[in-house]
Amino acid sequence: VADALLAQARAAVGAGVARGWRVPRLASVHRDAATPFSAYLRQQAKIAAAAGLEFRAHPLTSPADQPALEATLAALDGDRAVHGVLVEHPLPPPFDFHRALRRLRPEKDVDGVGWQNLGRLLAGHPLQVPAVARAAVALLRAHGFALAGRRIGVVGRSPTVGLPLALLLLLRGESGDATVTVAHSRTPDLAGALAGCDAVISCAGRPGLLRRSVVPRGAVVIDVGLSSVADPERPGASRMVGDADAEDLEGWAAAITPVPGGVGPVTVAMLMANAVLGWEALEGAGGT
Ligand code: NAP
Repeated sequence: VADALLAQARAAVGAGVARGWRVPRLASVHRDAATPFSAYLRQQAKIAAAAGLEFRAHPLTSPADQPALEATLAALDGDRAVHGVLVEHPLPPPFDFHRALRRLRPEKDVDGVGWQNLGRLLAGHPLQVPAVARAAVALLRAHGFALAGRRIGVVGRSPTVGLPLALLLLLRGESGDATVTVAHSRTPDLAGALAGCDAVISCAGRPGLLRRSVVPRGAVVIDVGLSSVADPERPGASRMVGDADAEDLEGWAAAITPVPGGVGPVTVAMLMANAVLGWEALEGAGGT
């Protein structure tokens, strides 16, 4: 699924450039420090190249504070050679991520988490939608799961993952029309909430949460959760796991995405698709 998305992105970039459009450029804005985000950026730069995009890092040098972040975003928003901007998150206090994102026009907010993009999704006119939400839907569709009318359980309601995913599934049209149940940490009976669901998409970040005791028999499981846990086979080392107990669900769920290597790679490829979408909107309007 990820390879197909990257091939589509490359083809779209080739067609636009042949029409005389600028090469799409994705910029990242982050603190100039070794954080989990810096490892993520190295991967993004590689995948951006595979999708035919230019990638430029914009580390915040001293002072790395809110005014510097907002000034950098305002400059990138006004730069016609830049088509998409990734902003480090989570950022520690006193940074205000959402306030900073207001400096970006919605086309350039490729993470789709700025209030304009979330509002557009809520109103049924999405522009940039969080890549992880689009990736979960793309995985279901690529495996022949028709969404219309089906019962889908979303576990998690964060404004960056669970909530936009639930809204996307509710939209009219082929990536939506589902009947959606949203569960969260205050849901007293998760099994009861998910009963009768044809698919469960878990975005809780709680290893082992999805077991036979909560997943309906025969449901498709899309595991968005990603947590670092101690690796029992390598003392002192850690490994990434999802929310699903895949061993327990073997022979019970109809299908289940692995972690790592499931939703993650499709999300990164989808982020490039978002960057291409923003580029097409901006260059198609004359690069303004
Ligand atoms: P988050 O802000 O911590 O939100 C977690 C959500 O799960 C919250 O809504 C929380 O409920 C709910 N939750 C927690 N424990 C629960 C439980 N026992 N039962 C039911 N619901 C529970 O995390 P996030 O940013 O949304 O990310 C969710 C997960 O997705 C994380 O593991 C993250 O690493 C992963 N992720 C993966 C990708 C990818 O590419 N694969 C991309 C983005 C995120 P409350 O609202 O009540 O607190």
